[in-house]
Amino acid sequence: MSRLDSFIRRLEAQRSCLADAARRSRETRGVVLELGLGNGRTFDHLREICAGRDIYVFDRQVAAHPDCIPAPDRMFLGDFTQTLKDARAKLGDNAAAMIHVDLGSGDAAASLALAARLAPDIAALMAPRAVLVSDQPVEAPDLAALPLPEGVRPGRYFMAEKR
Ligand code: SAM
Repeated sequence: MSRLDSFIRRLEAQRSCLADAARRSRETRGVVLELGLGNGRTFDHLREICAGRDIYVFDRQVAAHPDCIPAPDRMFLGDFTQTLKDARAKLGDNAAAMIHVDLGSGDAAASLALAARLAPDIAALMAPRAVLVSDQPVEAPDLAALPLPEGVRPGRYFMAEKR
Protein backbone atom coordinates (compact mmCIF):
# COMPACT_ATOMS: atom_id res chain seq x y z
CA MET A 1 0.00 0.00 0.00
CA SER A 2 1.39 3.44 -0.88
CA ARG A 3 1.97 6.00 1.84
CA LEU A 4 -0.85 8.07 0.33
CA ASP A 5 -3.27 5.14 0.58
CA SER A 6 -2.14 4.45 4.14
CA PHE A 7 -2.66 8.11 5.12
CA ILE A 8 -6.14 8.15 3.57
CA ARG A 9 -7.10 4.91 5.36
CA ARG A 10 -5.92 6.37 8.68
CA LEU A 11 -8.08 9.47 8.25
CA GLU A 12 -11.07 7.35 7.18
CA ALA A 13 -10.58 5.18 10.27
CA GLN A 14 -10.33 8.28 12.47
CA ARG A 15 -13.55 9.72 11.03
CA SER A 16 -15.44 6.41 11.40
CA CYS A 17 -14.31 5.95 15.00
CA LEU A 18 -15.19 9.53 15.93
CA ALA A 19 -18.68 9.10 14.43
CA ASP A 20 -19.17 5.83 16.31
CA ALA A 21 -17.97 7.36 19.58
CA ALA A 22 -20.25 10.38 19.21
CA ARG A 23 -23.19 8.03 18.65
CA ARG A 24 -22.29 5.71 21.54
CA SER A 25 -21.79 8.58 24.01
CA ARG A 26 -24.86 10.57 22.98
CA GLU A 27 -26.77 9.71 26.17
CA THR A 28 -23.77 10.20 28.49
CA ARG A 29 -23.52 13.51 30.30
CA GLY A 30 -20.19 15.31 30.07
CA VAL A 31 -17.76 17.30 28.03
CA VAL A 32 -15.61 16.27 25.07
CA LEU A 33 -11.81 16.31 25.36
CA GLU A 34 -9.47 16.55 22.37
CA LEU A 35 -5.82 15.68 23.08
CA GLY A 36 -3.80 17.09 20.21
CA LEU A 37 -5.05 20.28 18.55
CA GLY A 38 -2.47 20.09 15.74
CA ASN A 39 -3.84 22.04 12.81
CA GLY A 40 -7.36 21.78 14.27
CA ARG A 41 -8.75 19.29 11.78
CA THR A 42 -10.35 16.86 14.22
CA PHE A 43 -11.29 19.66 16.65
CA ASP A 44 -13.25 21.26 13.81
CA HIS A 45 -14.89 17.90 13.07
CA LEU A 46 -15.80 17.35 16.72
CA ARG A 47 -17.51 20.74 16.75
CA GLU A 48 -19.78 19.41 14.00
CA ILE A 49 -20.50 15.91 15.29
CA CYS A 50 -20.69 16.84 19.00
CA ALA A 51 -22.65 20.08 18.53
CA GLY A 52 -23.95 21.39 21.85
CA ARG A 53 -21.17 19.80 23.91
CA ASP A 54 -18.41 21.78 25.60
CA ILE A 55 -15.12 20.77 23.95
CA TYR A 56 -11.80 21.23 25.78
CA VAL A 57 -8.60 20.95 23.77
CA PHE A 58 -5.07 20.08 24.87
CA ASP A 59 -1.75 20.85 23.19
CA ARG A 60 1.62 22.28 24.06
CA GLN A 61 1.10 24.99 21.44
CA VAL A 62 -1.58 26.64 19.35
CA ALA A 63 -0.60 26.20 15.72
CA ALA A 64 -4.00 25.49 14.19
CA HIS A 65 -5.77 26.94 11.19
CA PRO A 66 -7.16 30.35 12.30
CA ASP A 67 -10.75 29.07 11.95
CA CYS A 68 -10.02 26.14 14.28
CA ILE A 69 -8.60 27.78 17.39
CA PRO A 70 -10.53 27.04 20.60
CA ALA A 71 -11.58 29.84 22.93
CA PRO A 72 -8.85 30.51 25.52
CA ASP A 73 -11.04 29.15 28.34
CA ARG A 74 -11.48 25.87 26.41
CA MET A 75 -7.75 25.30 25.91
CA PHE A 76 -5.32 23.46 28.21
CA LEU A 77 -1.96 24.72 27.03
CA GLY A 78 1.19 22.83 28.03
CA ASP A 79 2.48 19.31 28.26
CA PHE A 80 -0.22 16.63 28.44
CA THR A 81 1.44 15.11 31.52
CA GLN A 82 0.64 18.31 33.43
CA THR A 83 -2.50 19.60 31.68
CA LEU A 84 -4.44 16.36 32.16
CA LYS A 85 -3.87 16.79 35.89
CA ASP A 86 -4.96 20.43 35.57
CA ALA A 87 -8.13 19.22 33.81
CA ARG A 88 -8.84 16.74 36.60
CA ALA A 89 -8.60 19.60 39.09
CA LYS A 90 -10.66 22.05 37.00
CA LEU A 91 -13.32 19.78 35.47
CA GLY A 92 -13.30 16.93 37.99
CA ASP A 93 -12.91 13.18 37.51
CA ASN A 94 -15.67 11.53 35.41
CA ALA A 95 -16.22 14.86 33.58
CA ALA A 96 -15.89 13.61 30.00
CA ALA A 97 -18.44 11.75 27.87
CA MET A 98 -15.96 11.33 25.04
CA ILE A 99 -12.19 11.71 24.65
CA HIS A 100 -10.20 11.75 21.42
CA VAL A 101 -6.47 11.15 21.79
CA ASP A 102 -4.46 12.08 18.69
CA LEU A 103 -0.90 12.50 19.95
CA GLY A 104 1.14 10.51 17.46
CA SER A 105 4.41 11.92 16.23
CA GLY A 106 6.96 10.41 13.85
CA ASP A 107 8.43 8.47 16.79
CA ALA A 108 6.17 5.43 17.25
CA ALA A 109 7.85 4.17 20.44
CA ALA A 110 7.68 7.60 22.09
CA SER A 111 4.00 8.00 21.16
CA LEU A 112 3.21 4.58 22.61
CA ALA A 113 5.09 5.37 25.82
CA LEU A 114 3.38 8.75 26.17
CA ALA A 115 -0.08 7.18 25.79
CA ALA A 116 0.79 4.58 28.44
CA ARG A 117 1.95 7.31 30.81
CA LEU A 118 -1.23 9.35 30.27
CA ALA A 119 -3.62 6.38 30.56
CA PRO A 120 -4.47 6.70 34.30
CA ASP A 121 -5.39 10.40 33.96
CA ILE A 122 -7.35 9.78 30.75
CA ALA A 123 -9.35 7.00 32.38
CA ALA A 124 -9.98 9.09 35.50
CA LEU A 125 -11.45 11.91 33.39
CA MET A 126 -13.98 9.58 31.73
CA ALA A 127 -17.51 9.23 33.09
CA PRO A 128 -18.96 5.71 33.34
CA ARG A 129 -19.85 4.60 29.76
CA ALA A 130 -17.75 7.42 28.27
CA VAL A 131 -15.99 6.50 25.03
CA LEU A 132 -12.32 6.86 24.19
CA VAL A 133 -11.05 7.09 20.62
CA SER A 134 -7.29 6.98 20.26
CA ASP A 135 -4.49 6.76 17.74
CA GLN A 136 -2.49 4.76 20.33
CA PRO A 137 -3.49 1.90 22.62
CA VAL A 138 -4.57 3.32 25.99
CA GLU A 139 -4.90 0.69 28.70
CA ALA A 140 -6.31 1.06 32.19
CA PRO A 141 -8.10 -1.40 34.50
CA ASP A 142 -11.47 0.33 34.07
CA LEU A 143 -11.31 0.61 30.26
CA ALA A 144 -12.79 -2.11 28.06
CA ALA A 145 -11.92 -2.30 24.37
CA LEU A 146 -14.81 -1.62 21.98
CA PRO A 147 -15.23 -3.24 18.57
CA LEU A 148 -14.07 -1.00 15.75
CA PRO A 149 -16.51 0.24 13.12
CA GLU A 150 -16.76 -1.81 9.96
CA GLY A 151 -13.84 -1.26 7.62
CA VAL A 152 -11.37 -0.13 10.31
CA ARG A 153 -8.42 -2.50 10.50
CA PRO A 154 -7.47 -3.53 14.08
CA GLY A 155 -4.43 -1.56 15.20
CA ARG A 156 -5.12 1.40 12.93
CA TYR A 157 -7.22 3.17 15.58
CA PHE A 158 -8.46 2.20 19.06
CA MET A 159 -11.76 2.53 20.92
CA ALA A 160 -12.62 1.79 24.54
CA GLU A 161 -15.44 2.36 27.01
CA LYS A 162 -15.19 3.17 30.71
CA ARG A 163 -16.76 0.44 32.79
N1 SAM B 1 -5.82 16.19 15.97
C1 SAM B 1 -4.94 17.06 15.20
C2 SAM B 1 -5.58 17.41 13.88
O1 SAM B 1 -6.49 16.69 13.43
O2 SAM B 1 -5.18 18.41 13.29
C3 SAM B 1 -3.57 16.48 15.00
C4 SAM B 1 -2.78 16.31 16.28
S1 SAM B 1 -1.06 15.97 15.99
C5 SAM B 1 -1.08 14.34 15.36
C6 SAM B 1 -0.42 15.75 17.62
C7 SAM B 1 -0.40 17.00 18.47
O3 SAM B 1 -0.08 16.59 19.79
C8 SAM B 1 0.64 18.03 18.06
O4 SAM B 1 0.00 19.26 17.80
C9 SAM B 1 1.59 18.13 19.25
O5 SAM B 1 1.99 19.45 19.55
C10 SAM B 1 0.75 17.57 20.38
N2 SAM B 1 1.55 16.90 21.41
C11 SAM B 1 2.32 15.79 21.27
N3 SAM B 1 2.88 15.44 22.44
C12 SAM B 1 2.46 16.37 23.35
C13 SAM B 1 2.67 16.53 24.75
N4 SAM B 1 3.45 15.69 25.46
N5 SAM B 1 2.06 17.55 25.37
C14 SAM B 1 1.28 18.42 24.68
N6 SAM B 1 1.03 18.32 23.34
C15 SAM B 1 1.63 17.29 22.70
